[in-house]
Amino acid sequence: MVTVSFTELRAGLFKLGLSHTPVIAHASLSAFGEVVGGAETLLRATLDSVSALVMPTFTYMTMITPEVGPPNNGITYGSELDLNRMAEPFRPDIHADRQMGILPEVLRKHPRAKRTAHPIQSFAGIYAEKFLSAQSMQNPLGPIGALAEEDGWVLLLGVDHTVNTSIHYAERLAGRKQFIRWALMPDRILECPGFPGDSAGFEAIAPELVNEARLVKIGDATVQAVSLRVLIQIVMERIKADPLTLLCQRADCERCNAVRDSVKLKKLPY
Ligand SMILES: [Zn+2]
Repeated sequence: MVTVSFTELRAGLFKLGLSHTPVIAHASLSAFGEVVGGAETLLRATLDSVSALVMPTFTYMTMITPEVGPPNNGITYGSELDLNRMAEPFRPDIHADRQMGILPEVLRKHPRAKRTAHPIQSFAGIYAEKFLSAQSMQNPLGPIGALAEEDGWVLLLGVDHTVNTSIHYAERLAGRKQFIRWALMPDRILECPGFPGDSAGFEAIAPELVNEARLVKIGDATVQAVSLRVLIQIVMERIKADPLTLLCQRADCERCNAVRDSVKLKKLPY
């Protein structure tokens, strides 16, 4: 396995030209090879290469599936009784979901980091208060919109577009169906609107970004960066041209199927 040092990481990231740019990042530490000093090193090199850093610190383990609820919601009500029993109530210092990778959790614990209070879709950031404060229960991905307004970029550190949360923001702007989910709080269950669809089909956007993305290879990882404004515009145009674009092909995917149903309903002639 290739060994990657802080100096190599910083030199590689510097080539992306983002030192005056705020970014939302997604990362796989293991994609790089053996990073000397681990996730702390990758975080430090990333912070050195951007003007502000935001990462999702989502907490899917707070989610509760109710017995009944609104229809066409991409969910099978009453199906997750065991998971409900294991759900963890949201606290401001609850760990980020392990499927987000290790970097968001290291960012969240950084002494200068702030974290938003959304019980499922929180974000953490450094030098990023004004972006974080754009989140609300009605607009959980608001920090991405605020980053786009300030010419922010998406930074994919050894991961592809299937984890690119900003595509969800563009889906919402394009009018794609959103979902309701529920989070366990210490004293109640909280309804959370604006939950996005499934991202498993998002890599299909990659060919449209080849002329837009900046790419560098660091260790074994491909690192790419793309302007949020450009990404959002391309995704919105693509959804306008084909309302079923970027959905996954899994026959039993409840959220992608709910999006397909919502498109059919819009096409009815009354
Ligand atoms: Zn799907």
